[in-house]
Amino acid sequence: MNNPQPVAAAEVGNPLLPILQQQQTAFLDNGAPDYKQRIEALNKLKKAIGEYKEEIVAAVQADFGHRSDTETWITEVVSVLNEIVATKSHLKKWMKPSNPGRSISAGMAKSRVIYQPKGVIGIMGAWNYPVLLVLSPLIGVIAAGNSAVIKPSDLTPKTGEVVKKMIASTFDESYISVVTGDVEVASNFTQLPFDHIVYTGSTHVGKIVMKAAAENLTPVTLELGGKSPTIINSNYPIAKAVDRIMMGKFMNSGQTCIAPDYILVHESKVDELVSTFQEKLAKRYPTLDNNNDISWIVNDRHFTRITNLIKDAQDRGAQAVQVNPTDTVIAEGTRIIPPTLLLNVDPDSNIMQEEIFGPVLPVITYRDIDEAIRFVNERPRPLALYYFDQNKKQAEEVLSRTISGGACVNETMLHFANEKMAFGGIGPSGLGGYHGHAGFLEFSHKKSVIFQGALSPAPLMNNPYPKVVVKILKVVSKILS
Ligand code: NAD
Repeated sequence: MNNPQPVAAAEVGNPLLPILQQQQTAFLDNGAPDYKQRIEALNKLKKAIGEYKEEIVAAVQADFGHRSDTETWITEVVSVLNEIVATKSHLKKWMKPSNPGRSISAGMAKSRVIYQPKGVIGIMGAWNYPVLLVLSPLIGVIAAGNSAVIKPSDLTPKTGEVVKKMIASTFDESYISVVTGDVEVASNFTQLPFDHIVYTGSTHVGKIVMKAAAENLTPVTLELGGKSPTIINSNYPIAKAVDRIMMGKFMNSGQTCIAPDYILVHESKVDELVSTFQEKLAKRYPTLDNNNDISWIVNDRHFTRITNLIKDAQDRGAQAVQVNPTDTVIAEGTRIIPPTLLLNVDPDSNIMQEEIFGPVLPVITYRDIDEAIRFVNERPRPLALYYFDQNKKQAEEVLSRTISGGACVNETMLHFANEKMAFGGIGPSGLGGYHGHAGFLEFSHKKSVIFQGALSPAPLMNNPYPKVVVKILKVVSKILS
């Protein structure tokens, strides 16, 4: 990063600009961190998470009103530590320049692709996994040798402050720092001339971020949302499918970007599906009272939004099946929504237009698999697609006929968990991707370099062109055509 992104006149009054400039200066002075320094930074981050883990769990709990601590341990603590360990074990290999091979067009010169840090990267997280969604990109950012400024979501402010404290006590602010604050701060953040921005959040705000970044020609990774469909082929055992869909749908009360958003099931299987869900959900959530395993909806606005989605669907003729075995009356101010299935949903209802992001699952029937595929393909490209089928060939066909960010066959969500694969959306569900090697590549500049030897085609390619050149070109074009 020898030439930091220039500061446009519009950015001069940006209160966050000094933070970025401090990092740019440090990067210029110190140069890109080498392998040892990157490993050291990853170790420091790992140690810090170890020290702050209880505080993280408590802060997430406080921000949500209640969040299943098991879910927080899995998603915010262990998965991040796992990604650090995996990154460390591969980093040396990733950092090695790659050899694409020589080309006759380049005079058979030795060629290399060098992975160089982009510079200072802005990381903006969403609230639903408020630690994971800032620290997971940070791992790739550090591995690729960059500096970072992090902006956690303002909807989970207590967690944001813990992340800020943890990072401040671990790294020099000229290397990695955190800014917290409201939408105005977030907006200022997007206008900074970063060398790259990783944004996780809604598709709506993703467009705002991309527009702001375009002013500086800052590249972006957009990790967005959308409605991830789940298709169950009639040959697949319903009980097995329900277990796996429940994991993806009801973790964090459905507040997961890759939660199954709705189910497409063969019309002959719908009754069995609903009764199996009722039975299994009742076992999983025997009561909604004082149940540590039930995460609350993050705030009143989202609680009202989800309850309105259910009501709108019901007003348009849908039946709601809510699982509340002890008929718990949800106390005022308690943001619990019972696991809910919606049947006979009008495709025009609001719940089929926007991402649900809550524990509500519309069940839609199809008569043949083509109809289910058409239903998916008529809608915006989703972040994930889940398909249940005993027949591998048919599953391959569904994968090839649908386009989604990622997919699972006979499973939900776990494509995210394999840090060896890129995670990201497509079109309205995202742009770019990260995790593991994909993250390293996303946050690296891939610099193509030629090392020329004793001979060069230059004498043949300088004016006045020798007559022999056209003769050679004629022969080559004959061979190539
Ligand atoms: P959001 O887009 O409302 O907010 C995300 C971030 O954007 C926050 O830090 C917020 O402060 C900032 N922001 C809000 N308004 C802004 C503006 N005008 N200018 C600049 N920044 C602004 O998203 P959310 O509600 O926090 O998250 C929910 C969405 O995120 C869902 O759609 C979900 O699917 C998606 N999501 C995607 C992933 C993924 O990895 N693909 C992961 C989690 C969540």
